[in-house]
Amino acid sequence: MSWRVLVLGGTAEGRRLTEKLAALPGVEVVYSIAGRVAAPALPTAARIRVGGFGGVDGLTSYLRDAGIAAVIDVTHPYAALMTAAAVTGSNAAAVPLLVVRRPGWPETDGDDWHRVPSLAAAAAALGGFGERVFLTTGRSGIAAFAGSDRHWFLLRSIEAPSPPMPVRLDVLLERGPFTVEGETALMRGHRIDVVVTKNSGGPLAAAKLVAARHLGLPVLMVDRPPLPPGAPAVATVEDAVAWLIRLLGATDRSCTG
Ligand code: NAP
Repeated sequence: MSWRVLVLGGTAEGRRLTEKLAALPGVEVVYSIAGRVAAPALPTAARIRVGGFGGVDGLTSYLRDAGIAAVIDVTHPYAALMTAAAVTGSNAAAVPLLVVRRPGWPETDGDDWHRVPSLAAAAAALGGFGERVFLTTGRSGIAAFAGSDRHWFLLRSIEAPSPPMPVRLDVLLERGPFTVEGETALMRGHRIDVVVTKNSGGPLAAAKLVAARHLGLPVLMVDRPPLPPGAPAVATVEDAVAWLIRLLGATDRSCTG
């Protein structure tokens, strides 16, 4: 008998978790992505499904129809809609769920962080800083800054943004990981005054914060959306593997006992 596990992905951890789960005996993984990126990074050891489920009802039906035994949400910490649907949908379909939420970056000595609750709040706060803004909030967040015509923006994203966008905008199409040296040179070269970012956590994009600290630049840090109340969560891929092994062991015992 094989156990079909749905991994909600779109992150490096999602891919790493998929490879680890697929190596467990009797486990088959379906790795799901939203399908927004033209050439997404994908795990090799899973069945891939692309595109939204159609909200909570669509996800609930999918979980039942596809015979999913467990869901692990390893989406990005800011993918709040998907996580909310995963919590409600898995509950409705009576399928066990775990959320993997990597820890955020901590503010350390020498940092000049200004926390804001949303991208809109970041755009509203820009007036208190200099003119030249380095935006690493993803292409979909650019609309929040479309009305900021007093600022010049450098947006770094994996794919090109689409309107609405600020008038004074340069786009750098790049995918991490980035180095402290590279980030420092980039910010110096573009005479950046302020960095706007999300607290994604993890090693791939942390270098910009070290570079900002070294250069004495302020950082507007957009807060993470909260996890839905009661959502069971762990911080690491290893904890998620252990959760699944425990779950399968308990289910086997209840089937044979
Ligand atoms: P979101 O706002 O929470 O999700 C919007 C909709 O996209 C969801 O309601 C769902 O559509 C679909 N969706 C999202 N993740 C999906 C997945 N893994 N599989 C299938 N459908 C998915 O998410 P987002 O912030 O737009 O992020 C989209 C994807 O990009 C996520 O997979 C996330 O891990 C990845 N990502 C996001 C960020 C970020 O900063 N937000 C950064 C890096 C990677 P339906 O309602 O139709 O089911």
